Amino acid sequence: VKSASLRFRLTLWYAAIFTAVAAGLAALLVFNLRHYLENSIGDAQARRAHQIAETLVARVDATGEGYLAQQIDALYAPEKSDRFIRITRSDGRVAYLSGAPADQSFNPAAVPAAPPTVGQEFNRPPAVAGQAPLLVAAVRTGNPTGPNYLIEVGTSAAPVDALFRHVLWLLGLSLPGVIALAAAGGYVLIGRPLNLVDRIAAKAEEISQHNLDERLPVSRTGDELERLSLSLNHMIGRLDDAFQNSKRFVADASHELRTPLTILRGELEELAQDRALSAPQRERLGSLLEEVERLTKIVERLFALSRLDAGEAQAERVKFDLAELAIATAAQLTLLAEDRSIALTWEAPVPVWVEGDRARLKQVVVNLLDNAIKYTPDGGSVRLEVLAAEGRAVLAVGDTGIGISADALPHVFDRFFRADKARSRRPDGAGLGLAIVKSICHAHLGEVDAVSVAGKGSRFRVRLPLASP
Ligand code: ADP
Repeated sequence: VKSASLRFRLTLWYAAIFTAVAAGLAALLVFNLRHYLENSIGDAQARRAHQIAETLVARVDATGEGYLAQQIDALYAPEKSDRFIRITRSDGRVAYLSGAPADQSFNPAAVPAAPPTVGQEFNRPPAVAGQAPLLVAAVRTGNPTGPNYLIEVGTSAAPVDALFRHVLWLLGLSLPGVIALAAAGGYVLIGRPLNLVDRIAAKAEEISQHNLDERLPVSRTGDELERLSLSLNHMIGRLDDAFQNSKRFVADASHELRTPLTILRGELEELAQDRALSAPQRERLGSLLEEVERLTKIVERLFALSRLDAGEAQAERVKFDLAELAIATAAQLTLLAEDRSIALTWEAPVPVWVEGDRARLKQVVVNLLDNAIKYTPDGGSVRLEVLAAEGRAVLAVGDTGIGISADALPHVFDRFFRADKARSRRPDGAGLGLAIVKSICHAHLGEVDAVSVAGKGSRFRVRLPLASP
């Protein structure tokens, strides 16, 4: 949605700027064209007016106005060439007026008198309704002795106006199309890099601690996007290194701790056999042994987790009946439940086949049942179910125990997480049991989830791919 809107915004900006530039250029072009055409026509009229002034009107005193009119008709044939010519004496009398043009586009008698031209040799007299607009050049002869003459030569401005309108229409009609085309082109062009951004984002979304060896797509375009994905990839590489380092550290540390712990335990056990010890000394040794055992358990679990992380989850791959494995495991734990007068029951009527590492999946059942018993008060009940549903093998462990608060529930599968430390009845374990369950499930392409109501009980559910028997 983000990239779509970015794409939309960029295209909009692009289209807006393009429209402004194109419209500006078109206006410049059209008005310059009109100006140029008017100028060249006006100049031609002015040239003719000067010609008439210098060759004919200058000698009118000698030749007379009749000859003047005759000459103009003969030389310029204003009616035939749709031209307007008028010669007015300074006393206001019209000495010559051309007749109606062949195309009848204007009435010469109705053309308003030319206003005094300022700086410009020609102008447009105010339009008369129903007549073609004219471009009229006016030249005044300077005669120190006799009367002055105003020579006006004009022609229709209609072709210029028509051309102007035509070009305006043409541009008005084609501009929207051109703009739409440009916007569409922009939309497509912007789409390509934005698609790449989308793909980078999607890939980045996919990358987690489990696939840090994967990298984002890199476009070899040498642009900012290539640099972005390259630097993100370098960052992922550094994260990967750091992650591997910490994993290796945990693996090495837990491995190194196992031997001294085993020796320590052995020595303590041997010491406890010593008959010379007094009862209080023996008791202290006993609690020391308990602590060492707890430590050993934590180290074993850490070690198991780091091996799971390293991808050794399915060291063994066999097909077996999960129902049978679960029942056997539950039977082994019955004593533990009986100690606390907890009713441990199971229901697994039919074989449920799965494929994977038997020992590890047994660990899943043990950890879940162990927790259920551990977090259920004396006299409660724990129930185990194994069945096949929706193409998955489902193993569920429910209890009537203390439950898990809604705040804690999303974190119970995190490493070293323990909800409500004070209330946990037995202090053993370190919050690694469920993390191991989750790792094993993931390694078997399965998943585990939990629902719980604080004070009422919890239900953990493992789902694994079914195997054909
Ligand atoms: P721990 O070694 O503390 O049992 P786990 O990873 O097995 O570690 O469990 C993490 C935490 O989840 C426990 O500390 C406990 O608070 C909670 N929890 C796990 N199973 C249950 C359960 N069946 N009922 C209530 N709380 C549970």
